[in-house]
Amino acid sequence: MAEDLKGSILQRDRDTYAIVPRIPAGVLTPEKLEALANVVKKYRIPVIKITSGHRLALVGIKKDEIDSVWRDLDMDIGRATELCFHYIQACPGTDLCRYGVQDSLGLGIDLEKRFYDMKFPAKLKIGVSGCPFCCGESYVRDIGIVGKKKGWTLIFGGNSGRKPRIGDVLAEDLEKDVLLKMTEKLLVYYRDNAKKRERTAQFADRIGIDELKKVFTTDQTT
Ligand code: SF4
Repeated sequence: MAEDLKGSILQRDRDTYAIVPRIPAGVLTPEKLEALANVVKKYRIPVIKITSGHRLALVGIKKDEIDSVWRDLDMDIGRATELCFHYIQACPGTDLCRYGVQDSLGLGIDLEKRFYDMKFPAKLKIGVSGCPFCCGESYVRDIGIVGKKKGWTLIFGGNSGRKPRIGDVLAEDLEKDVLLKMTEKLLVYYRDNAKKRERTAQFADRIGIDELKKVFTTDQTT
């Protein structure tokens, strides 16, 4: 069993640790990049790995240097093993991509702020895409969101892991504020009704899409 020390993950060598700083929607600043580079050089961290969740893992840290590394970084811990919200993948969207029809990056950052502290029965990942090309891998994330010309599509129960599952489309053509309310209802329902370690994919199969859609009665979303 991996020892957990201030958000760190014991590595295969059973001696060094990896940490994953929190990087909302994968957006960095020059100051954060500089802090990361300085820490890597100062502590001779051997590996910097860009993860599939648009984060950076610093791998090969000595146990007695973990506290100092975090102090020097001055960044929040990104969760990588706990049963909770892990990360949001958000594609560039209208800010940066010529195909974008919705602001996926802005929405991703908003969602990260709103839901980061929620605990869940299993790990939870969100994918936000600014157009139907779906670079945010929205159909294979626990919560998937896709921007289309008429508004946002909300998807639930996707997974790209050992038992892949394409998420179910629960609603389409949503304004941003309605989407945020519906996402919150959905997350609360999942949090309160799923079994421990039951990912949204298994939960969706057990509960069924019709039951999931009942979460969104008119009363609940207004
Ligand atoms: S999903 Fe669309 S908007 Fe987002 S990066 Fe891909 S092509 Fe661009």
